[in-house]
Amino acid sequence: MSWRATVLTLFPEMFPGPLGASLPGKALEKGVWLMETLDIREFARNKHRSVDDTPFGGGAGMVMRPDVVDAALGAVADRPGPVIYLSPRGRKLDQAMARDLADGPGVTLLCGRYEGVDQRVIDSRRIVEVSLGDFVLSGGEPAAMALIDACVRLLPGAMGSEESLDEESFERGLLEYPHYTRPQAWIDHEGVERVVPEVLTSGHHEKVRQWRRAEAERITAERRPDLWSAYVAAGEEDGN
Ligand code: SAH
Repeated sequence: MSWRATVLTLFPEMFPGPLGASLPGKALEKGVWLMETLDIREFARNKHRSVDDTPFGGGAGMVMRPDVVDAALGAVADRPGPVIYLSPRGRKLDQAMARDLADGPGVTLLCGRYEGVDQRVIDSRRIVEVSLGDFVLSGGEPAAMALIDACVRLLPGAMGSEESLDEESFERGLLEYPHYTRPQAWIDHEGVERVVPEVLTSGHHEKVRQWRRAEAERITAERRPDLWSAYVAAGEEDGN
């Protein structure tokens, strides 16, 4: 059974969008995963087919109605995996979460627009909130795409070589080492010749591995003290 992404949105035409290209697009074509969108507007019942209304208590913006959102959620209640509302108040998406979701049967994603969704439907459906980061998007769709992309590339059969996965940023609690390709000597825009670190062309696999590990550690310590502390606390920095 293919991994299944079900997306509830007011803008179904946005999908698959970027997920139809490159790696996720090829995996979608191959049937490694399935993409389903549900237009929340189809579940609007009043004569104006309104999906949103003004907030009780006043204030700017509109709020998505609980009855409409609930009806949409009810229509996909049998889809596999957890229901997630993309929201800046949610737990921050990380690689461990993407891996957990990719290991499961799929995910149902609720995309907010305007000021967001009436709290009661989030409470009654016990929906988990997941955030892309500490910034505000105009809608949940780009966040849903990012989450799906992060999961899909982890699915068996999505990527050409499985081993490129466990070397990557975050997989071992470190940012990734730098990459180099041809030409080995390259003149930059200021006329300076830049050569590839010698160890990488030495053909010495163990030295390459050690160099990469050291670079990953250096870059992580420099840029992400939070990740570095966790890595040191886990006792991983012993050079193996
Ligand atoms: N009034 C809200 C922001 C609403 S933005 C607040 O201040 O918290 C409109 C929609 O965009 C949200 O309902 C949510 O689905 C989505 N969204 C915005 N920022 C997001 C983020 N950082 N991560 C995930 N979804 C986000």
